[in-house]
Amino acid sequence: MAESGNGLASWSTPAFVALRASSVTDLAVFDTRAMPGFTADRGAGERLLVERSRRLAGLQELLFANGRSGDRRSVLLILQGMDTAGKGGVVRHVVGSVDPQGVDHAAFGVPTVAEKRHHFLWRVAKQLPRPGQLGVFDRSHYEDVLVPVAHRRVSSSVVQRRYRDINEFEAELVESGTTLVKVTLVISPAEQARRLRDRLQRPDKYWKYDPHDLDDRRLWSDYVRAYQAMLRHTDTPFAPWYVVPADRKWFARLAVTELLIHALEQLDLTWPAPTFDVAAELRRLDAETR
Ligand code: AMP
Ligand code: MG
Repeated sequence: MAESGNGLASWSTPAFVALRASSVTDLAVFDTRAMPGFTADRGAGERLLVERSRRLAGLQELLFANGRSGDRRSVLLILQGMDTAGKGGVVRHVVGSVDPQGVDHAAFGVPTVAEKRHHFLWRVAKQLPRPGQLGVFDRSHYEDVLVPVAHRRVSSSVVQRRYRDINEFEAELVESGTTLVKVTLVISPAEQARRLRDRLQRPDKYWKYDPHDLDDRRLWSDYVRAYQAMLRHTDTPFAPWYVVPADRKWFARLAVTELLIHALEQLDLTWPAPTFDVAAELRRLDAETR
């Protein structure tokens, strides 16, 4: 099958290698317009995205079909990034290209009073993807080692404890058959300013604007440090982080598409065998339609 066409020639290094967090030593000087591993231009990238979205949809259907046949495995995309980084766009355009029946989506905002009474992993544990599903977290348990750290609201020992809890939680998750695809979308402060201004200048985008975004923006370098520490402590061999430059929306979407395709291909899925006698069923159908 030539579903990858010649579009894949546009990658000199596969996304799952080029975007690994381990190659990012200093987020503060990260090039948010770079296209690691990708050698073609926007036009080629957008055409490739159409083609690869179809591949992603095909693989997701295989995952779903296997889930229906008793396979316990699932894939969970975890999206992190500053406000306006494009998490919603990835959900809409990347995840949106697959069958919605097979998607378990969850978004995490400021914890409610009820949620605050529990361990920080409690609310995410409730939203994990079911077998055969593609899960998507728009923000996640990582907010609990980003927001309080950037705002200096927790002690270092509490944060260290949380990194450990996260790593243990994810190790168990992977052990039980969930492949994690952890993605941090990184934009520049200038690009964020453009996107926020756009939201403030268009009535159809006011709903996306949150005055609180500007408060977090003032803590930009604190957030960069919190993200760097998060990557350092929770980039594990079983649940690696990918860091995606996101000033170019098309590149970020293509990159996440490739990362999901890779994760699904690793599962080595095939169509489930029939649980019935195909020839006998065909004969029955023929008899009925004769
Ligand atoms: P949005 O994703 O734009 O709807 O915004 C959700 C807001 O909730 C962001 O400002 C997040 O930083 C915030 N948030 C999500 N989870 C947490 C958390 N565990 N602790 C504090 N703030 C959080
Ligand atoms: Mg927001």
